[in-house]
Amino acid sequence: MGAREDTKSLNNLAIQAVGALLGAKLPAQGMARCPLPDHNDTTPSFEIRSGGLRWICYRCDEKGGAIDLVIAARRLPFSEAKQWLAEASGLFARPLRQGVQQRRRPPAPVVPRQSLRPTQSPVPTDLGETQADHELYASLLGAAPLLSTGRNYLLGRSLSDRIIARFAVGQMPSVDAMIRLVDQFGFARVEASGLLTKTSTRDRYWPIFPAGALLFPYLEGGRVAYLQARIIMGEAKGSRWRNLNHRKRRLFNTDVLVASSTNHVAICEGAIDVLSAAELGRDAIGLIGVSARLTDAEMIALRGKQVDLLLDWDEAGDKRAVTLRKELSRFGVAATRKTAPKSGAKDVNDYLREGNASI
Ligand SMILES: [Zn+2]
Repeated sequence: MGAREDTKSLNNLAIQAVGALLGAKLPAQGMARCPLPDHNDTTPSFEIRSGGLRWICYRCDEKGGAIDLVIAARRLPFSEAKQWLAEASGLFARPLRQGVQQRRRPPAPVVPRQSLRPTQSPVPTDLGETQADHELYASLLGAAPLLSTGRNYLLGRSLSDRIIARFAVGQMPSVDAMIRLVDQFGFARVEASGLLTKTSTRDRYWPIFPAGALLFPYLEGGRVAYLQARIIMGEAKGSRWRNLNHRKRRLFNTDVLVASSTNHVAICEGAIDVLSAAELGRDAIGLIGVSARLTDAEMIALRGKQVDLLLDWDEAGDKRAVTLRKELSRFGVAATRKTAPKSGAKDVNDYLREGNASI
């Protein structure tokens, strides 16, 4: 993404969300008191319009979009206002300009509107540890289209548009999408869905997945039962994979277990390898982490199918293959450990990237 695209993405932030980052409470649309520092506005003379993306103050005689609001409120030159907004919104996980020292600090909190939200849906009463909030996850995914950064990353790993689309991979949107989600579903429900960090409260909350991260939906019966993110930009401490907060992890792509047409199932490590296996013509399920276990029901569903273990060809993968074969055999499932490719490929994606067409 170049500088022009950065500007465009930042100007797609809702004025309401930018106001929140600046410490001002603004409506999504319509008249409000002017948040600019020199204007002690007693009668609302500030208007948010154009679908919430533009503002005008009839007194200050100033107007513009998201970046212009930061310029006016913080008295920053354009490039610094852009930098500030990029950092505060978490929209870009990398410095906007090469050579700009990025400060290490947590992203700015999202400050929600204080008003009552009569439109919000009640918390479903059956939201147990294993019950997924399909509706809420689907709503987030609907607001999280794959961008060129995400697509290029996946193409770089030899995955095709066809497979990317089949698995409905998205990309985490900016913080204002989370504000809209809380507006729509209510804080308690978004919190229960695992999409907020542990330290989040009703007044200050942070998305669990950083903006720009790839979003992998765990589809079960065609519904989104879980979400996992992979950070593809900037620096990341520890693993680049992020899971939902306080939600039970699931197996990726379990729909292949119930497809009666599927007689061969491969077991891989992680979502990218499942997509890679699909690229190589294989139906696969993915463990989150090599030590993840299958439930009894999942092992029973594998009965009568030919199972290949495509775990990573490393020490951990080899070890897990031995224990997994034992666990499966207790359920009457015979599994074969696929021997390591002669090329030295360490996982299914490596193998795909070597130019192979099947496995
Ligand atoms: Zn004003």
